[in-house]
Amino acid sequence: MFTGILVTKDDAGHRATLQDIDDGLLGEGDVTLRVEWSTLNYKDGLAITGQSPVVRRFPLVPGIDFAGTVVHSSHPAWRPGDQAILNGWGVGESHSGGLAQMARVHGDWLVDLPPVFSTRQAMAIGTAGYTAMLCVLALEKHGIRPADGEILVTGANGGVGSVAIALLAGLGYTVVASTGRASEADYLQSLGAARIIDRAELGAPGKPLGKERWAGVVDAVGSHTLANACATTKYRGAVAACGLAGGMDFPASVAPFILRGITLYGIDSVMAPLALRQQAWQRLASDLDVAKLEAITQEIGLSEAIAVGTALLQGSVRGRVVVDVQRGLAAGSGLHAGR
Ligand code: NDP
Repeated sequence: MFTGILVTKDDAGHRATLQDIDDGLLGEGDVTLRVEWSTLNYKDGLAITGQSPVVRRFPLVPGIDFAGTVVHSSHPAWRPGDQAILNGWGVGESHSGGLAQMARVHGDWLVDLPPVFSTRQAMAIGTAGYTAMLCVLALEKHGIRPADGEILVTGANGGVGSVAIALLAGLGYTVVASTGRASEADYLQSLGAARIIDRAELGAPGKPLGKERWAGVVDAVGSHTLANACATTKYRGAVAACGLAGGMDFPASVAPFILRGITLYGIDSVMAPLALRQQAWQRLASDLDVAKLEAITQEIGLSEAIAVGTALLQGSVRGRVVVDVQRGLAAGSGLHAGR
């Protein structure tokens, strides 16, 4: 038995509870780890509340990422004592995940913890930060350089947005942060944003083409925001689309593609190949200012994860939330969320 959050669904509806969990629910895998830190991503909020059907097997431990220490392995690459990071692969969706003391996964899914990071720092970065790095890699691969002009980051106060700002600013880019929370302007500037714009500027239906503004874009919002970002990207610029915080639709025209030659990159962190993951984590290790990382990180215990996961969906959480899964283990604490 171990303690964790369990998501169940029955006639009474979707529920998340902190409880003792039988080892049998760990799922298949050749590496068993003691989870040290997990984190709360937007998708974890959806899994905890049931607001969107991201959980595809019940009962299931949510948590799409974690960092911890191997306690048992029959995989040739991993030995007891090794420290590893897990992001995605359907963990926390169709395979039990990181919001628990223990996890069992396939060794091919794991990435070595870069020596410069503690397991806590790796989860302060988490899937959101690793996805931000995938976006930055896409813009770099496109050939965008700091001298080319401003980079727009949408969903700026979120996990992806915050890390994207810190990374891009650290690399010398001029970052414009789009946010609905103007009150957080100081925070966004402390991360490196040169300018802040109100997300309402991009959130309403716009024209097929607008004034050319951005050399590149990291978009975590989707919908009209993504369409307007494409419509205002400079000739031969690029947009890295990774999120849908504002909606899953894409009400755009082909004009920016066929008249300005812009490129839209789709960013998926869940099934990204191992080599790309390793590259992203190595770049995070070399390029991310860990002091900035600490400034964007809040720490909670496992017993608080259900309530904070719910708040995350309401857009009231800033930056990254790390979960100390070995703290706050009063199983049956009565905290729950669901419908
Ligand atoms: P967060 O909840 O931390 O941040 C989302 C941010 O988006 C909010 O902080 C807010 O920023 C903004 N936002 C929220 N609601 C709206 C809205 N209705 N309209 C416009 N902006 C809004 O999420 P993450 O940063 O962790 O993730 C961002 C998105 O990226 C999510 O959709 C997530 O599912 C997706 N994602 C995708 C991955 C992939 O592999 N493609 C991996 C990880 C995340 P502000 O207050 O500054 O306006």
